[in-house]
Amino acid sequence: MYRTHTCGELNEAHIGQKVQLAGWVQKVRDKGFVVWIDLRDRYGLTQLVFDQDRSPAELLEKAREAGREFVLQVGGEVIERASKNPKIPTGNIEVLVTEFTVLNPSLTPPFTIEDTTDGGEELRMKYRYLDIRRSPVKNNLIFRSRVTMEVRNYLAAKGFIEVETPYLIKSTPEGARDFVVPSRMNAGEFYALPQSPQTFKQLLMVGGMDKYFQIVKCFRDEDLRADRQPEFTQIDCEMAFVEQEDILSTFEGLTLHLLERIHGIRLEEIPRMTYDEALKRYGSDKPDIRFGMEFGELNPVAQNRDFKIFNEAEMVVGLAVPGGNQYSRKEIDALTDWVRRPQVGAKGMVYVRCNDDGSFKSSVDKFYSQEDLSLWAAETGAEKGDLILVLSGDVDKVRTQLSMLRMELAQRLGLRKPGEFAPLWVVDFPLLEKDEETGRYHAMHHPFTAPKPGQIELLDTDPEAVRANAYDLVLNGNEIGGGSIRIHDRTTQEIMFRHLGFSPEEARQQFGFLMDAFQYGAPPHGGIAFGLDRLVAILGGQESIRDFIAFPKNNSGRDVMIDAPAPIDSTQLDELQLRLKK
Ligand code: ASP
Repeated sequence: MYRTHTCGELNEAHIGQKVQLAGWVQKVRDKGFVVWIDLRDRYGLTQLVFDQDRSPAELLEKAREAGREFVLQVGGEVIERASKNPKIPTGNIEVLVTEFTVLNPSLTPPFTIEDTTDGGEELRMKYRYLDIRRSPVKNNLIFRSRVTMEVRNYLAAKGFIEVETPYLIKSTPEGARDFVVPSRMNAGEFYALPQSPQTFKQLLMVGGMDKYFQIVKCFRDEDLRADRQPEFTQIDCEMAFVEQEDILSTFEGLTLHLLERIHGIRLEEIPRMTYDEALKRYGSDKPDIRFGMEFGELNPVAQNRDFKIFNEAEMVVGLAVPGGNQYSRKEIDALTDWVRRPQVGAKGMVYVRCNDDGSFKSSVDKFYSQEDLSLWAAETGAEKGDLILVLSGDVDKVRTQLSMLRMELAQRLGLRKPGEFAPLWVVDFPLLEKDEETGRYHAMHHPFTAPKPGQIELLDTDPEAVRANAYDLVLNGNEIGGGSIRIHDRTTQEIMFRHLGFSPEEARQQFGFLMDAFQYGAPPHGGIAFGLDRLVAILGGQESIRDFIAFPKNNSGRDVMIDAPAPIDSTQLDELQLRLKK
């Protein structure tokens, strides 16, 4: 037996007991007549003591030779500590060592294995197994496991069955590029890694499984924007004989269960907002509703005066910054520079100070009366002491820009509180989205999403007006889940593919299996998928997903620890009948 206890569990109650511990050396302190070693494992730290008077002399020598990260096994007696450390659960005791074995020595680690480390990101990733010994990363992984377990508990209690679906499949366009895998046995042919198990979970519904879930890896070969991973994990779910309402209530239940079990937060329900309303009020389809700063549309009260820029804009829209009248001219100029950065892309910004005496002072006083500005204040909900910031331009662009400004300001004002959780359903998404470059329509969610009942004919006359039975779950300004009610009959699916620009041949070639299945009694069905990595990070009060993934990839999609991707040798290439382009 290597150990009788872990390094996190001994306390006063164990004083006098003989114990055995195993773990890693965190630190050695040598005072000459006495040596202390902090021994660490997943559960905590225990102080070991080697004492000239009470320990065999050769043990002190051995203890002195133990370096950081050596793996030790020790035996000894739990004794009361002279100088106690109230910060750790084992802080009142120490173990007086009588048996000592080095199970494995260690090289000096390339960075310190402590809560705050001197190791940069790249170094930590190269030695991720050492990084995982650090509490912040270790705790994140434990937290992830807790969340996953709660998800399984909830879904299992609701009668969901976990079914695995294959990873080697055929390309199923869901908006991103596929990763492909060459087949040796079928030379010249390729599998694709699933962007999600979408078609399989629908086929499980045709197969009568009724309620399915899977915690599953998905693969998307996208240019990696910040904080995305080429492989990520979804909680993927599907149900048969359901309408949108059934799905929303089931997964509202899951979300509330998680908030309660993980954080002890009890929420009654999750508010809902249509896609159109979310864009109008917050400029985003994933608004953070933990704080206000809602948009005021100002066309009627800002146009048809003498200010050409606003007169020519498709939309003039503003928001009130609480207490923003405090900002100095310099700070406002800095904000203007911020919105003009290429990442945001606004041309300029107009501001209105709401003074405490009820008067206004704006950067466009030349064109607008106090009366005009008071109407702006009314539209944006600005109060005395606030600052109104106004942007103008094309509707879609200006809303996005103001939404970015809203989030930035909220961050600076401390309104995005990590311990506060505000979930939101966004519903009634458009079915289609136009690609401005090609003029082609794409499915906004995916091609299997059903239009709202009775809207299929609208596809011919006004495709952009067609709404989908699709919904997103938003948490603190992040999309954490999305799904839809599916098309479940061949004819509608064919119509949909036609509108997405597939020829009947292409549709049959790529999705024949699904449309065939729809002819054998496919039940009405729908589902949702949650991004587990992001969900866990947000529940953990953090924005970055990387430290909640045991072995993440870097921004260029590389695993710097195992050094992948990597070339393969020519024999492998030959077997696959592949030749590299020089
Ligand atoms: N397959 C979808 C996705 O990965 C989720 C769903 O519609 O259930 O986003």
